[in-house]
Amino acid sequence: MSSSLFQPEHEVFRTSLREFIDNELAPHADEWEEAREVPREVFTKMGDLGYLGMRYPEKYGGGDDPLAEAVLHEEMVRCHSAGVAADIGAHVGIAMPHILFNGSEEQREKYLIPGIKGEMIGALGITEPDAGSDVASITTRAEKDSDGWIINGSKTFITNGARCDFMVLAAKTDPQKGYGGMSMFVVDSDTPGFEVTRKLDKLGWHASSTGELAFTDMKVPGDALIGEEGKGFYHIMGGFVWERLLMSLGSVASAQMVMDSTVEYAKQRRAFGQAIGKFQVIAHYFADMATRIEAGRWLTYHVLEKYVEGENPIKEACMAKLFSCRMVCDVVDTCLQVFGGYGYMEEYGIARAYRDVRIMPIGGGTDEIMKEVISGMMGLGGAR
Ligand SMILES: Cc1cc2nc3c(=O)[nH]c(=O)nc-3n(C[C@H](O)[C@H](O)[C@H](O)COP(=O)(O)OP(=O)(O)OC[C@H]3O[C@@H](n4cnc5c(N)ncnc54)[C@H](O)[C@@H]3O)c2cc1C
Repeated sequence: MSSSLFQPEHEVFRTSLREFIDNELAPHADEWEEAREVPREVFTKMGDLGYLGMRYPEKYGGGDDPLAEAVLHEEMVRCHSAGVAADIGAHVGIAMPHILFNGSEEQREKYLIPGIKGEMIGALGITEPDAGSDVASITTRAEKDSDGWIINGSKTFITNGARCDFMVLAAKTDPQKGYGGMSMFVVDSDTPGFEVTRKLDKLGWHASSTGELAFTDMKVPGDALIGEEGKGFYHIMGGFVWERLLMSLGSVASAQMVMDSTVEYAKQRRAFGQAIGKFQVIAHYFADMATRIEAGRWLTYHVLEKYVEGENPIKEACMAKLFSCRMVCDVVDTCLQVFGGYGYMEEYGIARAYRDVRIMPIGGGTDEIMKEVISGMMGLGGAR
């Protein structure tokens, strides 16, 4: 569904993207879920069509339009595998932005140009086995060497982590300095000492390559540092606004898609001599769901509008994520209920959606952390 935020050219883009997703991605979703991997050709094909660079400057091969990228994240839900959407989303929406906003010109040319073509796949490595929500407590260490840095440590739960070509990663460059002692690096995955220790099995996002990684005496050049030394924590926080917006857009779009298919089911499935959608209790489920989806959509679009106008809506992005990512879980749960036993079977797609959406209130900052940030910005709380 569109809003006045999106221009006619975005709707033209939406139509052609939708056709691509319906014809080229959705028919393969089951196969990729089973294989636990999205083929590289998906990245190169989407790169060839310009879909991976929508928000990036034209000089790197992009389209310079964040709203078009927002359309991409909404429409990707139609591929019926959130794992596919997650791998594309992590590359386009959370790894490459660090290089765009904080990287040097050399780094942009080296990673954004092939990244936008889909010839290189990126990942963002922040979370560690002992540090998730508490980003500042990571222990991966980068020590200065004569002509670069030596990195030791580990990362976990990293989307694309098991198959990336480059990783934007957070490391402590001065452990004594807390928030101010963290820096960002971009590292090629063929660097000696970079090891994928495990590809992780998950509740959902089955097609996504989620990795656990170890870095052992990994020597990287001085120019692997992204932006200024000691500014990593602030770069991470800066990136969260866009990441949370993308998660909100995807959540609203998923909720709408699953509810729409369930409306059709409720009109056809009969019990006690009538369509189940005629029972008031079921009809009212839909009234509630439709209302919450609209609320999530307009809150998310409100934040998106602020973002494209150049504001930094930290609190509002947390609100949109908090609301939309919980809402999609509730909507899919209710839809599964409406499908009855068929909802529990794999063939209807609801079971996969149910597994896939559960990550939304966890990834990109949990519900509890969203509430910490929102209340903290109101002068309350204090744990963080
Ligand atoms: C499928 C998947 C993909 C992911 N992809 C990536 C990725 O690409 N890159 C990356 O860096 N990370 C990634 N993550 C990690 C994700 O961001 C973290 O899982 C998330 O931030 C939570 O961290 P944690 O799992 O360590 O939980 P913890 O931080 O251990 O939290 C456990 C519980 O305690 C609560 N809690 C913690 N602190 C507080 C507090 N102050 N107040 C109240 N409650 C609190 C949390 O809300 C949560 O309920 C991914 C995770 C998953 C599951």
